Amino acid sequence: MDCIFCKIAKGEIPSTTVYEDNDFRVIQDINPANLGHCLILPKTHAANIYELSEELTGKAFMLAKKIAAAVQKATDCDGVNILQNNGETAGQTVFHFHIHVIPRLKGDDVKLGFGSFKTDSESIAAMGERIKNNL
Ligand code: AMP
Ligand code: ZN
Repeated sequence: MDCIFCKIAKGEIPSTTVYEDNDFRVIQDINPANLGHCLILPKTHAANIYELSEELTGKAFMLAKKIAAAVQKATDCDGVNILQNNGETAGQTVFHFHIHVIPRLKGDDVKLGFGSFKTDSESIAAMGERIKNNL
C-alpha cells in the first residue's frame, strides 16, 4: 500500500520529527496552519478513527495532551486546537489516522468555524437517543 504517512511514521521518508516512541511519530505539518502545527501519526496503518484500535486511540489522545503542552510552551500561543478529521467530507485529505495539534494566536488567520445547523430541541433529543442506542 502506498501511504505517505506510513512511510513517514516508519522513518522511511525524512520528516521534522519532534517526538517518537514505539507506537507514534509526531511531525511538523508541511503546510502548517500556524508555526508549530504538529501531526501525531500512529506507526501502524489505520485509515481513520474507526479502524484504529481503542488502545492506540487512547494513547494517541494522551499524546495529544503532551504535545499540546509542549506546543503551548514553545510558541507561547494563546490557545491550541486539537483536531482529527475522518472522511473526505470532514476535511480528511490523508487517509492514515492523524491528530492535528495547532497553536492559536490572537488575530491569526486560521479558519475553523462550525457554522450552525437549524434544528429544534425535539430533534436534538431524538438524535441523542439514536446515538445512545448505537453505543
Ligand atoms: P487532513 O486534512 O486532516 O487529512 O490533514 C492532512 C495534513 O497533512 C495537512 O495539514 C497537510 O498539510 C499535511 N501533510 C500532507 N503531506 C505531508 C507531509 N509529507 N509531511 C507533513 N505533513 C503533510
Ligand atoms: Zn498509512
